[in-house]
Amino acid sequence: MIKSLRMFITMTIFGLSTIIGGLGANQNAEPSTVELVQQYIQLDTSNPPGMEIRGARFFADIFEARGITYEMLESAPGRANIWARLEGGGEPGVLLLHHMDVVPADASRWQYPPFEAKLVDGRVHGRGALDNKSTGIFHLQAFLALHKAGKPLSRDVVFMATSDEEAGGKQGVGWLVEHRPDVFEGIGAVLNEGGYGALREGKLSFGIEVTQKLPLWLKITASGTPGHGAVPREDSAPRRLVRALAKLEQIPFQRRAVPAASDYLRRIAKDAPEPWNKRLLVPDKLAASQAMMAELQAYDHRLYALLINTCALTRLKGSSKINVVPPQASAEVDCRLLPDEDPDKILAIVSNALIEEGISVEATLSFGAGSSSTDNFLYQALEKVLTSRYPETPILPKLNVGFTDSHFFREQGIAAYGFSPLIMTKSETGGVHGDNESISLENLQLGTELTLEILRELVYR
Ligand SMILES: [Zn+2]
Repeated sequence: MIKSLRMFITMTIFGLSTIIGGLGANQNAEPSTVELVQQYIQLDTSNPPGMEIRGARFFADIFEARGITYEMLESAPGRANIWARLEGGGEPGVLLLHHMDVVPADASRWQYPPFEAKLVDGRVHGRGALDNKSTGIFHLQAFLALHKAGKPLSRDVVFMATSDEEAGGKQGVGWLVEHRPDVFEGIGAVLNEGGYGALREGKLSFGIEVTQKLPLWLKITASGTPGHGAVPREDSAPRRLVRALAKLEQIPFQRRAVPAASDYLRRIAKDAPEPWNKRLLVPDKLAASQAMMAELQAYDHRLYALLINTCALTRLKGSSKINVVPPQASAEVDCRLLPDEDPDKILAIVSNALIEEGISVEATLSFGAGSSSTDNFLYQALEKVLTSRYPETPILPKLNVGFTDSHFFREQGIAAYGFSPLIMTKSETGGVHGDNESISLENLQLGTELTLEILRELVYR
């Protein structure tokens, strides 16, 4: 086989190198989605440390073999981002976005090793099978199919795989938006993760994420007089911290039904059991009632989180020895705010409530609001493709209780939609960030087909 001719232009940006590669000519038999997903999962991109360069090289090899021009850029050593563009006509471009990093996996708790991607009983098992590597391969397969077909496209299609989503995206999309804004020029919509087909109690609905709750991560630090555990003082750091956290628990956070949450709850109401089929129809009334909200939290804590600002205490740090009172003690609190909240205002409320001598409150992660209108060519294409295959199934714009990289785009006025064309049960979604993440062969087939249909709808009209 003739080794493909490659051209590299290397340039230096911010001390790091960009490689623009391409001009290959190596058309082998196409690997299947299953094989590609397995190969991709086998590249350990646990974040930290990330090492997404492994994933980027995987895509680079695929593009080079097909003569597709791409760019690859490291935001820090090993933290690579890669993208490729198919040029089309003058319609606004579409960006197919996924993240290459995965959350760590504790192999001792898994039935199959998390980075071997074993195919057992019709499922591929491994970290990233659902979040977000299979979606990345669906994007890739559709992108390669359009490239191979060689027909004129009505708009540009950009494939993009990024770093660091699981840690907030500062080395990935956040970095690219700051250092390479040119890549996003002309993009009219981003297809990202966040929504999917959910099978609940035998009923299917598709959620397309249009907005998300805002993280406000807080670090509360208490300082005080250190000493021996046998002779405690009133002003010790741990005691101050405990008092501050007790006050945090008492802050009455707002409960409210924002439009995306209202629409979603009303549309799932008819399939809910008594009394939720009636209560979910009037989300404003539900949110306003403290008693009903407490019941909702017990019934479905995910639905509860759609209607309220929450603050979860997740990390605590004090002394490293039982008989030593430390000079400092700290807590980290993961607050998630309704999408129309002002994070600075909430930070001020928390700081004012907790403040006393020796207590400081700082935000370690926070970003502003953003939501995407359903009046967009990508949302409409998703609706059209899903409706033609599943005519009776509701398609719902959705508020995501978590967050993704979509906010980076929404903040700049670029519409972003979270949707992976998968149908998942509640137990399957438990594998996302949990143990024993896996994806069925049916979903790999469905995702490949639907993603290509969506792309055809977008570029051949
Ligand atoms: Zn993800």
